[in-house]
Amino acid sequence: MKGSYVLVVKVSQNFSRRVGSLGRVSFRKGYYCYAGSAKRGIETRVARHRRVARGEAKLHWHIDYLLASKAAKIIKVSKSKKGECTLSQMLLGKGGLPLRDFGSSDCSRCLSHLYFYPSYPPAIQ
Ligand SMILES: [Zn+2]
Repeated sequence: MKGSYVLVVKVSQNFSRRVGSLGRVSFRKGYYCYAGSAKRGIETRVARHRRVARGEAKLHWHIDYLLASKAAKIIKVSKSKKGECTLSQMLLGKGGLPLRDFGSSDCSRCLSHLYFYPSYPPAIQ
């Protein structure tokens, strides 16, 4: 299925790490929601996210650096027919705190495609 998705990632402790072009980024204990899209199919993309999380794929996108961290775990994937930027705006509208430029380097509409929530985030799809 072609389309967009929201990854919900649980972070079990505070940590910071280098994230490609962004430099050092601090992550807080809580939940992160990432809006992404996959032209060649969500299943393929999500399978890749899971390989990154297991340390079996090279880090390429910003989100890879979060997923490859031991403190981070994918806990939910919500598929959507909406565009990734629409999902991103919805995450912002539901109170998510944007991590500036994270996953949105090639996006002119969004400040970020990754949002932080201190507690379990509201459903977006
Ligand atoms: Zn966007």
